[in-house]
Amino acid sequence: MKGCGLRILVTGGAGFIGSHVCDRLLSLGHVVSIIDNLSTGKRENVPPAAHFYEIDLNSPLDEVFAQESPEAVVHHAAHINVTQSVVRPGYDATVNILGSLNLLERCREHHVQRVIYAGTGGALFGEPDYVPVDEGHPVNPISPYGVSKHTVEHYLFSYRENHGLDYTVLRYPNVYGPRQDPHGEAGVVAIFALQLLKGERPVIFGDGSKTRDYCYVGDIVNANVIALNSAHSDVYNLGRGIEVSDLEIFEAVRNAVGSVIEPTYAPVRPGEVEHIALDASKAEKELGWTWTVDLNEGVAEAVAFYRARIEKNRA
Ligand code: NAD
Repeated sequence: MKGCGLRILVTGGAGFIGSHVCDRLLSLGHVVSIIDNLSTGKRENVPPAAHFYEIDLNSPLDEVFAQESPEAVVHHAAHINVTQSVVRPGYDATVNILGSLNLLERCREHHVQRVIYAGTGGALFGEPDYVPVDEGHPVNPISPYGVSKHTVEHYLFSYRENHGLDYTVLRYPNVYGPRQDPHGEAGVVAIFALQLLKGERPVIFGDGSKTRDYCYVGDIVNANVIALNSAHSDVYNLGRGIEVSDLEIFEAVRNAVGSVIEPTYAPVRPGEVEHIALDASKAEKELGWTWTVDLNEGVAEAVAFYRARIEKNRA
């Protein structure tokens, strides 16, 4: 899908990653509309130039599609709380599976050309056989969230086979950066930053040796833009391929904050894997995507955002 001025519908556009995607699409000259029920997203994240619909993914979406006639849909709306998905798998599935299905039905009826789907790489593979994990690794999600996010990949395949709906799945690692809320799959940078800035002691679940692959939100936005324009449409793992331990990410945030506070430790939470990092070689080869923002640089950006927010709230 080449060119600017495309009509693009972004679900979850009031959320952390979705709102950054909207900002970039608007800056590139696209016409952006947003569906978001503000369950975790914020009104203040919605760019003024976007057409905003405060509705649920599971509600009738015909009016939005009729009004906006989107050529592409970038699907970020989801229930993203891994721990909650273990407690309430039905709710998680209602949002992530049935909500996505409702969206895909409208895409089919309204002749959308391409869907970009924000998948998960971090919650998809279970405890991996090898790290970094490529797309050929067996899929064994431990949490219901991982199951629901992956299920949509199958529906996308089915819609392409049956209805010719083109799609690309971008499987994200732990994405972090400004606007992230301290909840969900990967909010640890936000959590540590806010706690340390307030002088509180962060909790590390486990002994600090669990590892994750952290990628700055700007790099993830780049992948969305490339995927929209690419001749390739497939499933891609994204990430830096580098394992960062909980203690290392704590240190990175603590350095950026300039704090000397020590963490406390608590038992590991259910549904979490020990080690994960994603091999993005396929995305690099086919899409020409690679990460650009170094961990300390990205963490400093995130901490600056939370510092400014705390100061604004104090004023
Ligand atoms: P987020 O919570 O900030 O964004 C999700 C958005 O979806 C929110 O604005 C929320 O209000 C909206 N939403 C939720 N349920 C909805 C519903 N039923 N109807 C309409 N809107 C609804 O989370 P995020 O971190 O920006 O995640 C965005 C996407 O990226 C999600 O699909 C998530 O699964 C995926 N993802 C994120 C990460 C990460 O590290 N943050 C990792 C892997 C995958």
